[in-house]
Amino acid sequence: MAGEPQPDCLFCKIVSGDIPATIIRETDTTVAFRDINPQAPTHVLVIPRRHHPDAASLAAAEPQILADILRETANVAADEKITDTGYRVVFNTGSGAGQTVFHAHAHVLGGRGLQWPPG
Ligand code: C5P
Repeated sequence: MAGEPQPDCLFCKIVSGDIPATIIRETDTTVAFRDINPQAPTHVLVIPRRHHPDAASLAAAEPQILADILRETANVAADEKITDTGYRVVFNTGSGAGQTVFHAHAHVLGGRGLQWPPG
């Protein structure tokens, strides 16, 4: 069922504590942790506790949680002191866009210059 934990989902296992992660912020609805393969000095993932495969399905099913994620991306940027220099929030959606973990997540990237357009 939409929103329920999925047994084979890596990020559901991070939420439950079955897989370790460097968690830096938590709310009732979200968890933020450092990406295991950082692409910038700050690279944090903000995920919903509830399982939805991508940002679009989360937006359709539980838009208030997507708002919680966006609020948390701003809180991560403030904690990491990257607000003044600028940062990027990315939701890779679909394998063609580089999504590899099918539990919705926002990447927060900053701490270096970021090119546009992205690759
Ligand atoms: O957008 P995409 O689905 O590719 O992002 C998944 C991200 O999850 C990757 O950046 C990867 O490094 C990260 N990851 C992680 N911890 C894991 C497995 C993957 O931070 N245990």
